[in-house]
Amino acid sequence: MQLIDGKIISEQIKAEIAKEVEEIVKKGGKKPHLAAILVGNDGASETYVAHKVKDCAQVGFTSTLLRFDNSISEEELINEIKKVNANPDIDGLIVQLPVPKHISDNKIIEAIDPAKDVDGFHPINVGRMVIGLPAYVSATPAGIIELLRRYKVPTAGKNCVVIGRSNIVGKPISNLLIQKADVGDATVTICHSRTENLKEVCSKADIIIAALGRAEFVTADMVKEGAVVIDVGITRVESQTTKSGFKLIGDVKFDEVAPKCSFITPVPGGVGPMTRVALLQNTLLASKKVIYK
Ligand code: NAP
Repeated sequence: MQLIDGKIISEQIKAEIAKEVEEIVKKGGKKPHLAAILVGNDGASETYVAHKVKDCAQVGFTSTLLRFDNSISEEELINEIKKVNANPDIDGLIVQLPVPKHISDNKIIEAIDPAKDVDGFHPINVGRMVIGLPAYVSATPAGIIELLRRYKVPTAGKNCVVIGRSNIVGKPISNLLIQKADVGDATVTICHSRTENLKEVCSKADIIIAALGRAEFVTADMVKEGAVVIDVGITRVESQTTKSGFKLIGDVKFDEVAPKCSFITPVPGGVGPMTRVALLQNTLLASKKVIYK
């Protein structure tokens, strides 16, 4: 069994990005610039945005955090997005979701210029990704593909089961894995809460991507010998053994599943750090105008 270490790989990628930024600046170029919009003061959103700002600083990017009160209207927020769209100094824009209930997530996503949509949530980027055109791919699926690539996990012709069909994980990773690409060419089954015989479906998989958000749902009897298991799930539970008083649990019962696997990601330290670094990779692409010239 080989552990797929997202922490190590993400640090390597950050070092690669930092080096590239240094070279850009040395040649008189501009540092990549990410803007993040945060509405309200939800604790989890605050933490995610703080991580993103910190990650930018670590690789030498400029970041701008634009904070708005919960009471901002949809129209006002869209106007703020339009200002960032028009600002030539800003390469990438993310709006931390969820936004307050009186604002439509979809309208906000669609207001972002696709060329600055480094979260890869805009329908134009999603559509381009699906038909195999260059696009910003959302961070978690992009991070999973990068892990598979760097660990040279074979995917061509493999039977891959994705558990979960969300727009941010299940659907995009399924689409990426069926692309004609070096990490792709898989035969993909997408499962969800209405799937019958999930255990049987999983037990035939060469690769399982667990993205359902149910702690330790995938057990050893669902996994065949030699399978690759990518655990996307994160459930926060109370813990008396950690300083913070909580710990993160994946969708896979790691201790019993790991011995059966050829490769497996841990939680924490697997897909999570790769999600963070994928946003940096997209921002670098945006600053280099690689996808939208
Ligand atoms: P989501 O939007 O809640 O979607 C969960 C999906 O799992 C849905 O499609 C749901 O089916 C399916 N599902 C739920 N219970 C199921 C069951 N018992 N059997 C089969 N399928 C079931 O979640 P998400 O945003 O995709 O996130 C999934 C997990 O990944 C969460 O724990 C989240 O915290 C984590 N996550 C981690 C990262 C990271 O960086 N590591 C990034 C994003 C998300 P239906 O469609 O039928 O409801």
